[in-house]
Amino acid sequence: MNLAKWLCRTARRCPDAPALLRGTNVVATYSGFAEAAARLATGLVDRHGIEPGDRVALFMANRTEYLEVLYAVWFAGAVAVPINYKLHPKEACWIADNAGAKVVFTSANQLSAMQPLTAGLVEPCQTISVDDPGFADLRNHAPMVEPLERSYDDLAWLFYTSGTTGRPKGVMLSNGNLHTMTFCYFVDVDEVYASDAALYAAPMSHGAGTYNFMHVLRGAKHVIPESSGFNPSEILELGRTIGGISMFAAPTMVRRLVVQARAEKSDGEGLRTIVYGGGPMYLADIEEGVDVFGPRLVQIYGQGECPMTITALSRDLVADRSHPRWRERVGSVGLAQSCVEVQIVDKDGATLPANEKGDIVVRGEPVMRGYWRNEEATREAIRDGWLWTGDVGMMDEDGFVTLSDRSKDVIISGGTNIYPREVEEVLLNHPSVVEVSVVGRPNEEWGEDVVAFVVAKSGSELHEAELDQFCTDNMARFKRPKLYVFLSALPKNNYGKVMKTELRLRLEGS
Ligand code: AMP
Repeated sequence: MNLAKWLCRTARRCPDAPALLRGTNVVATYSGFAEAAARLATGLVDRHGIEPGDRVALFMANRTEYLEVLYAVWFAGAVAVPINYKLHPKEACWIADNAGAKVVFTSANQLSAMQPLTAGLVEPCQTISVDDPGFADLRNHAPMVEPLERSYDDLAWLFYTSGTTGRPKGVMLSNGNLHTMTFCYFVDVDEVYASDAALYAAPMSHGAGTYNFMHVLRGAKHVIPESSGFNPSEILELGRTIGGISMFAAPTMVRRLVVQARAEKSDGEGLRTIVYGGGPMYLADIEEGVDVFGPRLVQIYGQGECPMTITALSRDLVADRSHPRWRERVGSVGLAQSCVEVQIVDKDGATLPANEKGDIVVRGEPVMRGYWRNEEATREAIRDGWLWTGDVGMMDEDGFVTLSDRSKDVIISGGTNIYPREVEEVLLNHPSVVEVSVVGRPNEEWGEDVVAFVVAKSGSELHEAELDQFCTDNMARFKRPKLYVFLSALPKNNYGKVMKTELRLRLEGS
């Protein structure tokens, strides 16, 4: 089924309900939202020759037009290719080219950089700025009566991975993948009510954008902050004014929100659910988060290849500090979601017993259909129906999965596996350490040894010897870093993930 049908049904059921908000201003009701998408869809077909299955890219910051364009693309039976707006126009153009996009929607500030680049592509690609009169003209086409027929298997979203190693790959997500992901959210993550609001503080091209489906189904609001991004005090204020807010936040965002809430003496009033994930949330941060926000936090573990839907840790489990195994559980990513099977396996794919570390594999309806035009990578990722996540972890007797690291980040020193996250967790407990990332460095004798990149609290006089003593006091000797490198900030990609590849590069020749 075409995903745009959800929007049409909601618009019929509650046409006057507020749908799209910029800050606190309602820009469109559900009937306005659906009509704009239906008109743009006709424009895409009549003026730009878009046919079912064609790719249409979006390269712009979070804004209400983003959702109109997404639904217009689906209305017309096409495939959306959201591109992180923080990418360089050349990188965005590479993605548009790889996807074979016929049209790229962008904004005024990026148009002049994009146009000459797309003009040089082999397959013709038109660029439309949503700030230009041409976009308003597209909206003046007669509305398409019904979304075009799409099947469960037809593609809806080409999701480009964040590319912490090499070029990004296009993950093919079908209507079926996104349907199941949406339904599973209601079962395992959170209910959504008509009075709720999805707040888009992280890029809509990535995980945050997928929250639109549940909110469209329930006729809830979609709020784009005035800042178009993540500003903690703005978010707390929007919570107080609008209420019922759900948002996706990467762990660093949760940390900043907690700091701001403490400064304002806020308990997060009006924020109903903060879904965190996308990277490790360290124990000290989650403890503080629960202290400040109480039962508002839910964790999910997913990846582009199985969006949102591998495991979840419910709000009750996150907040129940009285449970004897609470610390263990919040250190995990929770339980397999209802629509998938999750297993821990060895290199040959054999299932490992409880509490043994191995590769995390997942099977089920939300798993991608493969990588776009990359059969080799698809064969590598999906074997015998199981998606190899590239993450290493273990599952306890109760089914809780704990992530150790990305498999390629595991350090093998003297034949022993060292999981960088364990070392990072210890170092983060040092009062002068703000951020840390641990990687392996080639070593002739040991294979690899451990190096810690550390961001120290400003004004603190932190030395290698002090950290070494701290590690000696708190972890097995063989895991201790052999080298500490102090940085003012860790290199992160456009989704806020630490670029360990770049850290390793810095070590070359050292
Ligand atoms: P992406 O496809 O860019 O969303 O990245 C997915 C990867 O982020 C996963 O394979 C994990 O390595 C990591 N990740 C996602 N969710 C979590 C989580 N809750 N805790 C720790 N790491 C996570």
